[in-house]
Amino acid sequence: MNDRGGSIARLRTPTSGATVRLLPHYQPHPAGLRTAGGRILPLPPEQRALAALCQVERRADELPEAGSAEAAALAALLDAGLLVRLPPPVGSPLRERYDLILSPHIDDAALSLGGTIAAARPVGRPPLVVNIFSRQTYQEALRVPPAQLDALAAEEDALAARILGYRALHLGLPGAQDRRELKLGAVFGWTKARVLDGPAGSADLDAVLSALEPVLQRAAQDGCMRILAPAGIGGHLDHVLTRIAAERWAAATGLPLIFFEDLPYGATSVFDGAGATGGLEPRLTNIASALGSKRAALRVYRTRLRDHQIDACLRHAATIGAPDVPAERSFRQPHAALEGLRRGGQWTSPVPSAL
Ligand SMILES: [Zn+2]
Repeated sequence: MNDRGGSIARLRTPTSGATVRLLPHYQPHPAGLRTAGGRILPLPPEQRALAALCQVERRADELPEAGSAEAAALAALLDAGLLVRLPPPVGSPLRERYDLILSPHIDDAALSLGGTIAAARPVGRPPLVVNIFSRQTYQEALRVPPAQLDALAAEEDALAARILGYRALHLGLPGAQDRRELKLGAVFGWTKARVLDGPAGSADLDAVLSALEPVLQRAAQDGCMRILAPAGIGGHLDHVLTRIAAERWAAATGLPLIFFEDLPYGATSVFDGAGATGGLEPRLTNIASALGSKRAALRVYRTRLRDHQIDACLRHAATIGAPDVPAERSFRQPHAALEGLRRGGQWTSPVPSAL
């Protein structure tokens, strides 16, 4: 049995609970598939039929047997990233305590922590990913009508959550380019001081702190373990705002705070990360068991990520770890307490109106 046949055989294992579906960016078309932007992707007849079948999520036992011509078509559609294989969704944590991941944009948790999340999936404590600036007109890869973009982005994130094993919450704040009418280049190069010194940045920060308040209250009731937030490498305005808000909320609640490496920015030589990570201790997490899941999750962000960006992140994982031990990098304060939680306790809110 070849590799592809083997993967299909695994998919058909009755106990796996795995399913397959067509990405939401595509609709069946008589010639193949039609993208949300109206482009036609021609497909051979077997692939066309399977893609149409999988417009609805299909269980493994509804799909072709390994070794058949249809199985080759299924493998081709999966390889092309038109179909995606999904494990069962994660439910509420089996144990109460979980991590809260503050993701500036809808793809940042998967980009920076996708392997870490997937590698920890067997523990049964799925993190809660809070997508803060989850409304954006930004498109990098597959073009879709602007009116469909937010809904498609939410679907992309739901699929990544299935693949990696997290729960997601969208705060619905507009991204920097829309909020401040900034060109793409102008959203980079921000520092904490530059954000805090400007009236616009202060207003933005107040909005983030306020939007996070009910999330942090609930998380503390649930026994949240830690806050994970971007270090701010590259100085994207939304990432820096998220870091400042995380620091304020961590100080208020006593929750330990860990910074994650901003990708793909940290994977390029364009940005110097020293300013964002100076004085912090780097840590590596082995993601060897989860690299395939991370790649699969990143590929569903069709409106945002191009293949070369995904490849750069995966190469970076091997560079900072080792060729056989790919890694994701995080940073923490030296001698930071691992368990500083004031569980269920009272705190002074960092939201200005609540002071
Ligand atoms: Zn981002």
